[in-house]
Amino acid sequence: MNAQTESLDREQPTVQSVQICEVSPRDGLQNEDVLLSTADKVELVQRAIRAGAQRIEATSFVHPKRVPQMADAEDVMAAVPRGNGISYAGLVVNQRGLDRALAANVDEINIVVVATDTFCQRNQGMSMQQSVENAHTLAEGARGAGISSTITIGAAFGCPFEGEVPIERLREVITRVVDAGADELALADTIGVAVPREITERMALARRLAGPEARLRLHLHDTRHTGVANAVAAVAAGVAVLDASIGGAGGCPFAPNATGNVATEDLVYLFDRSGIETGLDLAQLTAAADWLEGRLGKILPGALLRAGDFPGVLSA
Ligand code: MG
Repeated sequence: MNAQTESLDREQPTVQSVQICEVSPRDGLQNEDVLLSTADKVELVQRAIRAGAQRIEATSFVHPKRVPQMADAEDVMAAVPRGNGISYAGLVVNQRGLDRALAANVDEINIVVVATDTFCQRNQGMSMQQSVENAHTLAEGARGAGISSTITIGAAFGCPFEGEVPIERLREVITRVVDAGADELALADTIGVAVPREITERMALARRLAGPEARLRLHLHDTRHTGVANAVAAVAAGVAVLDASIGGAGGCPFAPNATGNVATEDLVYLFDRSGIETGLDLAQLTAAADWLEGRLGKILPGALLRAGDFPGVLSA
């Protein structure tokens, strides 16, 4: 190794691992026409665990009239296997949701703030400013109850109603939530419009505003097939946690034309071959995606499900 390579190695420490938060039971199912049974949702969680998932966004505690697919949140939480080191998250948007999540014994909550007023109004019936105040209250409530919290800024890269979300707007929203005392800050590409340059730029902004010790997370959708590229940029930008969904299932009921999250197994293939640990098993994930396709009765967008692992063995 010559002196120049050594100095390059020092300047660019290699990322060893990234955590993938499995969001298929929540984001993956909430936009599907087929309503999965509680038993199927629990099986999805069990399959994720079998694949090595340590952190699972299991459900959301929102009004069942608004998201009927999540109406059995309490039943799901009561039935998933506990005491195995798995951290189960519930998405909450208000105090009622937090109360339900705590009663259902979640390990963490995911609090959503939407960067634009139009989408925020449609998603949770309040302005961005109100949702920021709400997030402070909810993060405090979680802390008081001894569970951890994430604040996710939805539509951080683009809005289905307002279009471009200027970085100044994102700066304003991050600035208002960083002192809420949440354990993690996530940016969400809710409608899958981001490209790697924006991931780099906006995660760097989040890092500057949240501080060097903050845990950063990114929620990706693969709507325009930039999800995997964005995941690479995210890891390089110091993102510790990526959201993904088995099979690439998902969407957002309040965002027209939103499609699935980036597929967990596509990220695991990418990271496995890049020498970055996820702790997840590709074969188990692909099997779970295959099972989920059957339950949903539709083709899921994940690429590994079609192409298989490499090197693989084709049956004659
Ligand atoms: Mg989403």
